[in-house]
Amino acid sequence: MTASRAAFLAGIVDGARPLHQRLLDAKARRVRVVIANALDGAPEVATARRLAAARPVELLAGLALAMRELGATRGLIALAAPAAEAQHALAGRLTDAARGVGAAGVPSSGIELVELADAAAGNDEAELVADLGDRGEPDAVVLGAVALAALGAGGPALMVPVTIAGAVLRPGVRVVPVGMSVEDVIDAAGGVTVGPAWLALGGGPLAGRPLDRDTPIELRTRALFVTAGDSDLARRTRLPLADRLRQSLSACEACAACTDVCPPALRGAGLAPHLILRALGGATDQPVLGALACTGCALCDLACPVGLAPHALVLAAARALRDRAADVDRELPSGTPHPLRAERRLSTRVAALRLGLGAPHGVGVGVDARESPPPPPWDPAPVEPARISVPLLQWTGVPARPVVAPGMYVARGSRLAEPDAGTLSLPVHAPFAGFVGEVVPGRTGFVTLHRT
Ligand code: SF4
Ligand code: SF4
Repeated sequence: MTASRAAFLAGIVDGARPLHQRLLDAKARRVRVVIANALDGAPEVATARRLAAARPVELLAGLALAMRELGATRGLIALAAPAAEAQHALAGRLTDAARGVGAAGVPSSGIELVELADAAAGNDEAELVADLGDRGEPDAVVLGAVALAALGAGGPALMVPVTIAGAVLRPGVRVVPVGMSVEDVIDAAGGVTVGPAWLALGGGPLAGRPLDRDTPIELRTRALFVTAGDSDLARRTRLPLADRLRQSLSACEACAACTDVCPPALRGAGLAPHLILRALGGATDQPVLGALACTGCALCDLACPVGLAPHALVLAAARALRDRAADVDRELPSGTPHPLRAERRLSTRVAALRLGLGAPHGVGVGVDARESPPPPPWDPAPVEPARISVPLLQWTGVPARPVVAPGMYVARGSRLAEPDAGTLSLPVHAPFAGFVGEVVPGRTGFVTLHRT
């Protein structure tokens, strides 16, 4: 069976897109290099890093399957420094395969491990390709390590590795069932260490979005970061967009510190957040087209000396452009990377310190008085919630159609919902055996499952 067929049947998602679709697109482009993205790119998020160390056979087997379907001659696994643990685990399996021993499915040649400097937002695909430089190729495809490991594991996608960090008793990377609620996942990590008004940010502390406590874990969920309800982080994320826009337009000093750290700006992608702010404030008639290159990483907010949120403005400008469909099809301006790109990029450690995370260090002042937190460890303890609600749409496309009814018993891995023929959809499976509760079809639909 081809990798794309296996990915479709398993219902694997990579980012917001079905993995099989990404593979078929890459096949049409005749790519020759497959890059496994095992970077996390955010403070306190260690999902891909820990997965690569804990599940090397699955990752290597998934990469090999993808390479075989695409006819790719090279596979790269991109790891963020320090990556000794993952390097050791992956290199050991590759050596075993070269000696003709070890697990089935692990390729014996054609795969390189590449350790890149730790950089906040470094997991963005365009950043990764730029970082690989000559080691990458123009005809390469970047696929997520988590999705590739799911492909290499075989069988349906039922569980997903998630970093649970911040104000929880036992921070860690845990493999949890799809459909488990945010609150149950946090309880499984020992519960919160702050008051009852805690807030969970999906994606991590840097650019994470606030989640309701009953939000289900999806196949694309990578991190939950818990913060106190009255923390600066919580206040910042809860500030209404209109207030953020008003503050930014009135108080911006046009210092360009935001542009100095903006990853697309440093790559020469034609985005300058400080100019977009000036244009939106009417100070210039600079075009705001570069806003379309914004990835929403929020590093510009960290850099702003007066505490503004330029990223909300840039994203709002990009949304307005897309809504008007204006200029969207035009090629974005691109130039050469900034000569000081390497020096200006923020590491996840510095980003953590600027977010006020980390333990007091005792000496010095300002950020130097704190130590950035260590990445959360892999936690193999099983997570077995009594009840889950599995969403029918976890990707960009159309929802799957439920094929179960309330009261039915379903086995682990059996289908809860099927894709309709000819639609961009995926099957949805039962992460554990149990009885079906509620069945709600549609874009916001779900199937509730009670463990037996
Ligand atoms: S969020 Fe800010 S730093 Fe990140 S890409 Fe957008 S403008 Fe640049
Ligand atoms: S860093 Fe802040 S003050 Fe400076 S240009 Fe950007 S938004 Fe304005």
